[in-house]
Amino acid sequence: MFDVVVIGCGPGGYAAAIRAAQLGGKVAVVEAGDIGGTCVNRGCIPSKVWLRAAYTLKMIKNANEFGIDASVNQIDYSAIIERKNGIAAEIRMGMEALLEANGIELICGRGMLQSARKVGVGNKTVGAEKIILATGSSLDIPDIKDLRNAILTTDQILDMTSVPKSVLVWGEAGALDIEMASLLNILGSKVYIATRYPRILPKEDHDTSQRLAQAFREQGIQVITRSTLESVARSQQIFKAVMSGRKEHVLEIERIVIAARKPNISGLGLKQAGIRINENGSLWIGEQLQTSEPGIYAIGDITGGWMNSHMASAMGVTAAENAMGQTKHFTSELVPRGMWTSPQVGSVGLTEEEAEKKGFEVEVGDFPYAINGLAMGYDEVDGAVKIVSEAETKEILGIHIVGANATELVGEAVMALQLECTVDELAHTMRVHPTFSEALMDAGRDAAGWALYLPPKR
Ligand SMILES: Cc1cc2nc3c(=O)[nH]c(=O)nc-3n(C[C@H](O)[C@H](O)[C@H](O)COP(=O)(O)OP(=O)(O)OC[C@H]3O[C@@H](n4cnc5c(N)ncnc54)[C@H](O)[C@@H]3O)c2cc1C
Repeated sequence: MFDVVVIGCGPGGYAAAIRAAQLGGKVAVVEAGDIGGTCVNRGCIPSKVWLRAAYTLKMIKNANEFGIDASVNQIDYSAIIERKNGIAAEIRMGMEALLEANGIELICGRGMLQSARKVGVGNKTVGAEKIILATGSSLDIPDIKDLRNAILTTDQILDMTSVPKSVLVWGEAGALDIEMASLLNILGSKVYIATRYPRILPKEDHDTSQRLAQAFREQGIQVITRSTLESVARSQQIFKAVMSGRKEHVLEIERIVIAARKPNISGLGLKQAGIRINENGSLWIGEQLQTSEPGIYAIGDITGGWMNSHMASAMGVTAAENAMGQTKHFTSELVPRGMWTSPQVGSVGLTEEEAEKKGFEVEVGDFPYAINGLAMGYDEVDGAVKIVSEAETKEILGIHIVGANATELVGEAVMALQLECTVDELAHTMRVHPTFSEALMDAGRDAAGWALYLPPKR
């Protein structure tokens, strides 16, 4: 009998297993595929290897700006794939060693709930005081005739040996869609990104959407909003995608990129165990990450929400602590988002619209990268830092960054929100000069009403 059995060994399950073992639990983790899950094998790490290759290409193409005469002879796609596979393998090896070092039993196979205390793996039954479900998500392909013939999945992109001449990225225009759009655009595809929403990144602050959409348009990416993919038809070597909306668009493209994901809930024995499933197919969980069945917890992509790795692993820590007898809450409001587009996006907390909807009297501070010294020196002037705060208390409610290093800068934004920092406190911090992080302090000063390096507001 184990104290905790975790089903799924992605970033969520892996963190949960280690944390439960650190707290003295006898722990097993069941994994049906490769440890590391989507993140290590088909997600975060592989996509960042590709996006780094694309960024390097962009830098070389822009080398003239820095007085360097350089040109690109060729792109060796197999070398990128080999590098990506090598890094994933290295991480998997490290993970396996850490599981062993923590005394965690890795059980290979597909796990299924037999009861609130029993997990079946093949013809074996594993007993558990507590169970943590961490089975992640998988690709969600819309049911449109002939779409399957045209589709280019994120898995396929991460293993591509050539780049399609043209693509339509169709979906919510969320993080995965826009990263794929940015990658393919830099590598030379003609990219259309289309969504039924009124703007790309519909869940982010409207200024973030607008800033990224503007940069995308300048890079030649065509953004089509309020539009629905109605039909797909092959026409010789290409596909015709018919989009309806305020205006009909007929796009001729080589492939259609789909990145949408759905929680992995099938074959888990959830119904027999009486576990409540939300309307959107994710698992219902309470603040302590327990499902509707006491003793069974759920974390990461299977619970829906922002569906990112750091959320999965932070939930893993909370669920493990609770499974081991603590009563911790998970603060979903502090889940940051990072997107390695060009320029990058990083955000946390309430958007301006959300803050207003919640009844806050909102104040906004803004500081453009265009007048940040390092951004100018590095030729990375696209973007801005936006701070959403409460007028009376000056507490920071949200920070929304578009620009170079946004995915790193958002880390200190998370800290600011977690420590309930005010714009005055942020404005009075000191930063190394010249750094991108100065833009955060300067946006804080703008929110506090005394931006030093912006024209006075009349
Ligand atoms: C292309 C792409 C890029 C991404 N980039 C980022 C990024 O840069 N940053 C970020 O934060 N997030 C990123 N994500 C999202 C991130 O990968 C996921 O949010 C994260 O992996 C979710 O972690 P998880 O532990 O919930 O599930 P997963 O990582 O999906 O792991 C679930 C594991 O459970 C196993 N499993 C499933 N069912 C069973 C079963 N019945 N029995 C046993 N094992 C089972 C699976 O084999 C898998 O290993 C990206 C995703 C994609 C597709």
